[in-house]
Amino acid sequence: MQHYFTNKTNFYGNTTPQELIKEYGSPLYVYNENILRQRCKDMVNFIPYKNYRVNYSTKANANLELLKIIREEGLDADAMSPGEIHVLLSAGFLPEQIFYIGNNVSAEEMMFAYNKGITVSIDSLSQLKKFGQHNPGGKVAVRINPGLGVGHHEKVITGGKHTKFGINSDLVPEIKKLLKAYELKLVGINQHIGSLFMNGEQYFKSIKEILKLAEEFEDLNFIDMGGGFGIPYKKQDGEEPLNLKVLGEKIGDLLNKWASLNNPNIRFISEPGRYIVAECGVLLGTIHAKKKNNGICYTGTDIGFNVLARPMFYGAWHDIEIYPLNGGVVPLAMETVTVVGNICESGDIIAANRQLPLHKEGDIIGITDAGAYGYSMSSNYNNRLRPAEVLIQSDGSHRLIRRRDTLDDLLRNFTGNCLSC
Ligand SMILES: *Cc1c(COP(=O)(O)O)cnc(C)c1O
Repeated sequence: MQHYFTNKTNFYGNTTPQELIKEYGSPLYVYNENILRQRCKDMVNFIPYKNYRVNYSTKANANLELLKIIREEGLDADAMSPGEIHVLLSAGFLPEQIFYIGNNVSAEEMMFAYNKGITVSIDSLSQLKKFGQHNPGGKVAVRINPGLGVGHHEKVITGGKHTKFGINSDLVPEIKKLLKAYELKLVGINQHIGSLFMNGEQYFKSIKEILKLAEEFEDLNFIDMGGGFGIPYKKQDGEEPLNLKVLGEKIGDLLNKWASLNNPNIRFISEPGRYIVAECGVLLGTIHAKKKNNGICYTGTDIGFNVLARPMFYGAWHDIEIYPLNGGVVPLAMETVTVVGNICESGDIIAANRQLPLHKEGDIIGITDAGAYGYSMSSNYNNRLRPAEVLIQSDGSHRLIRRRDTLDDLLRNFTGNCLSC
């Protein structure tokens, strides 16, 4: 039961969490190639429509080796920054496979992407004007806010009345005026209503909205429906995955009908981030202390919020597995503990009041579904080192795909003299 997920998926291949920690140190992000490839295939086959493409949202996990696998599986990609563009190009994505979705960006950033041949999505009227001034006659996409949002936490809802994203759909006449004034060609429209939905109803509704809007423009090359596909974080409690088959067929019907009426060659795009990478990642750490403060039992680990921010940032839940130090069986008896990290802040909590198998100092702890918004949100806060990343390859062998930070990495960007060097 406690290794419910990693046993079922043979997550660790030919090795064990204990061996991995011994070889690569703790904490450690571990990814499973088979799961990653399967999730890519799920999305590529998601919607039965001939000109359907998947743009992986790079911000969920930008490890170069994972990006190469995602590209091999036939996905394109979204970028949110020049840094993501740089990494995507390094992973072998072609400019025409990258879509730059900027938010409040400088003219230099727009041009950085545009001059590389990357399509740029614009997210406000003033930015559209700026784009037109720098690129009269150019090609552009526009991000629309369809007026509805969805998400697991207010911080991740990106559509609707209370977010900073997109151009409101009632401003279409203004968009048209600017397109005309600068002779811009609108190649596509995009939206993204939020993250982690487990039921596709709002997503479906938002697609209907964007299709209606698309009828106001002529000759679009693509309509990008956005991402937000959830994954079941509470697998130990039996939470079920999103039913992609039912949703995909329903969306497929809608898109095929719309295309045949309006624009038979249009490309439809979805933008999953989390769905692609969350489940292929487990974050391993080590239990270094156990104590009781005022009746609460604390299990102290080396997984601070600098390594995994989601629990502190969103109050997010991750299932936890325990791997005894000596590789022995997991005790059946349970204890209730609050699992914390090693950062000097009292909010540094991975899981509060969690029932876990009895565990002791030296045991290894595994935080599952940590592949999305894990490493990509990690930092050097408290001057802690960001962990290494390891891939369990399809044949079961393992390989280092990013080294751990070194102490010297912490000094790398300083311009003065280092007194001890
Ligand atoms: C973050 C983001 C996504 C992906 O979101 P997920 O919840 O990880 O699927 C897609 N599109 C845009 C514009 C985003 O900002």
